[in-house]
Parts: sequence; C-alpha cells; structure tokens
Amino acid sequence: KPTGSRYLADETATLALGAELAAVLKSGQCVYLLGDLGAGKTTLMRGLLRGLGHQGAVKSPTYTLVEPYELNGVHIYHFDLYRLADPEELELIGIRDYFDGQGLCVLEWPQKGAGVIPAPDLTVTLTVQPPGRNANLEWA
Ligand code: ADP
Ligand code: MG
Repeated sequence: KPTGSRYLADETATLALGAELAAVLKSGQCVYLLGDLGAGKTTLMRGLLRGLGHQGAVKSPTYTLVEPYELNGVHIYHFDLYRLADPEELELIGIRDYFDGQGLCVLEWPQKGAGVIPAPDLTVTLTVQPPGRNANLEWA
C-alpha cells in the first residue's frame, strides 16, 4: 500500500498515484482527500476512477455534492463538500445510504461534513509544491 510522503512532479504522477490506490482500496472504505483548491484532489480521483476502469469524464461534484459511479459491480461515490453550508444538508441527500459499507467513498473537503461522515480508512493530503505537488498518505 502506498504510504508516507512522495513528490508528484506533474499531473501524470498524480493520476498514477490514483491508479495505485485503485489497486489497493476496497469497497466499504472511506478516503479523505485534503488540500487547498487546486491541490490536485479531483485529479487524484480521476486517476483512481481510471484505474478502476472508468473511461469517461470525471465531473467535479461541487454543486451536486456527490457523483456516483459503478465499475465492475463496485459502487464508488465521489463527494465534494466544498459548498456545503451545514452538515445537516447531508442528511437531506440521504448520506447514510452512501456509507452503508457497500461502496467506496472518496471525499474532497470532508471537514465540511464533520460529525456526519464516517472516519477515514485513508487520508491523502496534497500540498502545492511548485512545480508539482506533495502527497502524504496515512492509513488508519
Ligand atoms: P482540486 O480538486 O484539489 O481543486 P484539481 O485536481 O482540480 O485540484 O487540480 C488543479 C490543477 O492542478 C489541475 O490543473 C491539475 O492538472 C493540476 N495538477 C494536478 N496534479 C499536479 C501535479 N502533481 N503537478 C502539477 N500540477 C498538477
Ligand atoms: Mg476538486
């Protein structure tokens, strides 16, 4: 399992880390993606989804909060809680159903859902370090 810190020199390296994660993550797990706007969170998710066989585009679910995928029978939920004003909103979209232990949940801006979303199995922290990014991976 990829663990600890590594430097991602370009976008391709971020996508490759996502593909590495695709190979080790299991359904029922929860991943937090931390980092400022532009740190590469959605790019990492794109690499992860491609690694699981997704061939289409990857939308940023900034306005919809969650984008569901189904790949080879596995449900994957990509959350972006950046615009969430109140964690209570998550109850309204039926958040509990997403965390029923069947799907793989990946969250950008999980801090905004504090108290409502489960604890992470993996936290990836991305920081801008020109010209690339630093990634730190910590498993629970
Ligand atoms: P976030 O979802 O964290 O806001 P994005 O994934 O949308 O960030 O990425 C923002 C920009 O950073 C994109 O233009 C992407 O191509 C770029 N990017 C991603 N990873 C790297 C990297 N390792 N080095 C340089 N640029 C990167
Ligand atoms: Mg994003």
